[in-house]
Amino acid sequence: MQKNELPKGMFAPDAGDMSAEDFRRAGHEIVDWIADYFERMEDLPVLSQNTPGDLTNALPPAAPDAGEDFREIFSDVERLILPAVTNWNHPNFHGLFSTSTSSVGVFGEMLAAAFDQKAMLWRTSPASTELEPVVLDWLRQMMNLPEDFHGIIYDTASVSTLHAIAMAREKLNLSVRETGMSGRVDLPLLRVYCSEQTHSSIDKAVILLGLGQKSLVKIPTNDRFEMDAEKLSRAIRDDISAGFLPLCVVATVGTTSTTSVDDIEKIADVCQRNSIFLHVDAAYAGSAMIVPELQFHFKGASRADSIVTNPHKWLFTPFDLSVLYVKDLDLLKKTFSLVAEYLKTNETVTNQMDYGIQLGRRFRSLKLWFVMRYFGREGLINRIREHVRLANLFKLWIEESANFELLATVPFALVCFRACPRNVADLDAFNEKLMNEINASGAAYLSHTKLNGVFALRLSVGSLRVEERHLRKVWDLLNDLTAKDAEVK
Ligand code: PLP
Repeated sequence: MQKNELPKGMFAPDAGDMSAEDFRRAGHEIVDWIADYFERMEDLPVLSQNTPGDLTNALPPAAPDAGEDFREIFSDVERLILPAVTNWNHPNFHGLFSTSTSSVGVFGEMLAAAFDQKAMLWRTSPASTELEPVVLDWLRQMMNLPEDFHGIIYDTASVSTLHAIAMAREKLNLSVRETGMSGRVDLPLLRVYCSEQTHSSIDKAVILLGLGQKSLVKIPTNDRFEMDAEKLSRAIRDDISAGFLPLCVVATVGTTSTTSVDDIEKIADVCQRNSIFLHVDAAYAGSAMIVPELQFHFKGASRADSIVTNPHKWLFTPFDLSVLYVKDLDLLKKTFSLVAEYLKTNETVTNQMDYGIQLGRRFRSLKLWFVMRYFGREGLINRIREHVRLANLFKLWIEESANFELLATVPFALVCFRACPRNVADLDAFNEKLMNEINASGAAYLSHTKLNGVFALRLSVGSLRVEERHLRKVWDLLNDLTAKDAEVK
């Protein structure tokens, strides 16, 4: 039998689940396959080379009536699924934000799936209910946040932020839980403030919370793409004079396009003066706050009401795991708790269902616990520090080149830049073509944004497997293609 090949005839029994013996055999093969997958990562294309519909067309239109041999099913992973996978774990994945899983994170997911906890009440999962706050307190300490922040896990930052803004609305005591918002003449227009660089999840949150996009005020940024706190202050003052009611300010540490950092201290001053809830979106850069020399970016964050950070982005934890830290856990509970008869218990315990929209919760803290214990604080710091070093090295290459230019500062591990060969008139089109050529090659993945109206390439460094040679490979590719496309000598 070949490696990664299961014996024939692994069919479901007439009743019940797979036998323990089959599970063991299949499990070993699958772990073997995953180990090989990690090992051969660099031989795989970063972006799937499929075209839209390839996978759909290869799949039967309906499920089989009779159970199939698990060997056949598993061999289709290699044949059908893998070619359709974009390899986020590839060291040359530099698009969006480069994020990757870790082996222990995979084990955490395996065990969480095996335990299949629905952590709604303490009694439905003491393990999840009690491990989560401990692990999140470890992370809080690593991020140097004060003790009055309490963490809760959701799936994504979009959902964490939605919960934070819902809390901010509840804090205003407008009886929205009971009376809703529609048809109410007693409600002024509520306002949420963020910068024009803020992630689109804030727009989606105001849509979902019934505030409407007209409630969202996007404050202009300075030349470093940071929210202008003076303009924020003026916008709030003008809104209050016009009879509007400020609900929340969302500041960002590590914006999506450039990883710019809003001045939290100044923004917290504005919020404090006007008694406005402050939410900090550190979905990407929160992980970097474990690195002592980067913690200055969080100056003022201790004054926020809530902070979101995503260990699934830059803490080697498999998707999904987002953490919302809140000062007022009781307010979060007041916003969301609703206990149906069949969920009433007489234990004096934390029931995780009280802290969000979901009833059942996945046992996500297990994988983060594995990651934090396996790498340790120092191991995690060293890895993030290395990513920052590599991004700054890449930045240096750009600064030293006549054919490329930087388009934003590099506070963390993302570089925004473009090719600017002298003989090219339309640089936007040129850079877009450059990006498409690199992405189509399968050798690396870059994404883009628009900065001050120009097309900017984004190179993010964040893979657990990335080394200097991988960045050198992209740099050589960029130079070769630029030379070819622009006929630069
Ligand atoms: N906030 C910021 C700053 C982000 O960069 C992102 C995604 O990249 C998000 C929020 C949304 O993250 P998620 O996919 O966890 O909802």
